[in-house]
Amino acid sequence: MNLKQKILLIEDEKNICNFIATTLRAQNYKVSFANSAANGLSLAASGCPDLILLDLGLPDMDGISVIRNVRKWSHVPIIVISARSQEREKVEALDAGADDYITKPFGTSELMARIRTALRRFTINSSIPASDQSRYRAKGLVIDYDKHVITVDGNIVHFTQIEYKILTFLSRNAGKVITYDTLLTHVWGPYADSNNRILRVNMANIRRKVEHNSADPQYIFTEIGIGYRMIDNENL
Ligand code: CA
Repeated sequence: MNLKQKILLIEDEKNICNFIATTLRAQNYKVSFANSAANGLSLAASGCPDLILLDLGLPDMDGISVIRNVRKWSHVPIIVISARSQEREKVEALDAGADDYITKPFGTSELMARIRTALRRFTINSSIPASDQSRYRAKGLVIDYDKHVITVDGNIVHFTQIEYKILTFLSRNAGKVITYDTLLTHVWGPYADSNNRILRVNMANIRRKVEHNSADPQYIFTEIGIGYRMIDNENL
């Protein structure tokens, strides 16, 4: 028997709350909700949700602080709900540890797909032994982290140190949106230039090597103005 997965919804707008709760319950999720950050944090701690849906604009505290707080003690997947005007906050939220975001207004099927993906990834990552994570595979692309070998359709492809670092970081976080800032800091260190031109140049080279058609990528997707997302690891 499958236990119902619990979703905590932290959102102060009643209409949106009702709409999401109804949708989730119809999909057989158990839903609890909080209309303030304080309330949400206490439910997150006491209710052990499987996933948190978090609105960024809350009356008592901003959503980013909620993420930082939760991340001190939990890896529970967090999907941020943001307004189109909150572009900067969206990026900040991902850097603070959110897994994904959805922009208002959104459709039911998009919301459900993002929830399923976040839950699946979390279950996979927390249940497999570390040794099974030595490989990334998606379609024809295989990355062997131990051997430092990358093949595309069976052929070994060579990468520079920087390109390899970018590709392995994205693939180890496959399915997640990785912001430009997170990637720049990971690859070039905390004093990295915040100008992402160098990143774009490297990404263009990586795509030329792995994608069949750089204009229509199948492995690494661009989230415009935010960062990149790599396709899920089929090996997990
Ligand atoms: Ca709000």
